[in-house]
Amino acid sequence: MVTIAFVADVVYITHPRYLDHDNGRAHPERPERLRAVLEGIHEAGLGEALRPMGPRPATLDELELAHDPALVARVAAMGAGGGGWLDADTAMSEHSYEAAILAAGAGLTAVEALVSGAAESAFCAVRPPGHHATPTRSMGFCLFNNVAVTAAALADQGERVLVVDYDAHHGNGTQDVFWADPDVAYISYHQYPLYPGSGALGDIGGGEGWGTTHNLPLPAGATGDAYRAGVDEVIAPFAAVFQPTWLLISAGFDAHRADPITDLGLSAGDYADLTAALLTLVPPGRRIVFLEGGYDLEALRLSAAACVAAMAGERLVPEPPTSGGPGREVVAQASRIQAECTPSL
Ligand SMILES: [Zn+2]
Repeated sequence: MVTIAFVADVVYITHPRYLDHDNGRAHPERPERLRAVLEGIHEAGLGEALRPMGPRPATLDELELAHDPALVARVAAMGAGGGGWLDADTAMSEHSYEAAILAAGAGLTAVEALVSGAAESAFCAVRPPGHHATPTRSMGFCLFNNVAVTAAALADQGERVLVVDYDAHHGNGTQDVFWADPDVAYISYHQYPLYPGSGALGDIGGGEGWGTTHNLPLPAGATGDAYRAGVDEVIAPFAAVFQPTWLLISAGFDAHRADPITDLGLSAGDYADLTAALLTLVPPGRRIVFLEGGYDLEALRLSAAACVAAMAGERLVPEPPTSGGPGREVVAQASRIQAECTPSL
């Protein structure tokens, strides 16, 4: 057991109902993932830093800040019918609707807890994940877009929200929700090309949201140095102009080199450093991390612990940070694009 002196508390939001969402046999997005996250945090000696909390469900009005009412009605109806398939790889079981509205409510609960001064940050250990769910479509293991519901609610209250997505897949749903929104910025690191196929360099938002979306579409094998350069050369300079009041992180741990469905090259140590660097972009008490993907249970255990340790103010590096892979040229290009359009925001 590692002894760690914590400097910050972390609100930890989860719910037993998240374990009841069942995608079916041999599906990578399975309940054991949440158990691995919690085990990893406790094995690392981080349990003392956690302030456990249960989520409230998101209301229909809150879901409809990010989703078309027809999509919400469709998911509710399928849940009431006992389950079914929303797309080829996204299923609902008997309790999935309840799990989904509790997952969408986790970030809203986190906002309420942080505003009341409960902690410096919050980690939402949720299932189903959310970042592929678009305004009109549940897809890619995602029913409702958890991070988007929270970002939209914050923007509704006059906040300026930066969403950083380091899941290995592009968060097409989050990008779609805020494409033309000047108050919610979205920046994604992802393997490219890979499911769902969106997130090209130069996709920077439109209309009033022009310049508030940025993409870092990395080649297979990209390592931690590219991610660290992404903070220094794209995200931090953007944040200096955008001046976010809240930071929401779509934390997918499937960019780990051991993940079975992706080909990026991160280690758990990279997640420690990346998370720590991002947390500096907004003041304490305005940071929420949402679990998205991550399908190798050991990688998930180590990476989630490294992430939560960074949130608690400690550097936990279960595996050394990586470097030397491809991807720096993509970051340089994204940096040039960001520098060209951000000053005119
Ligand atoms: Zn993913």
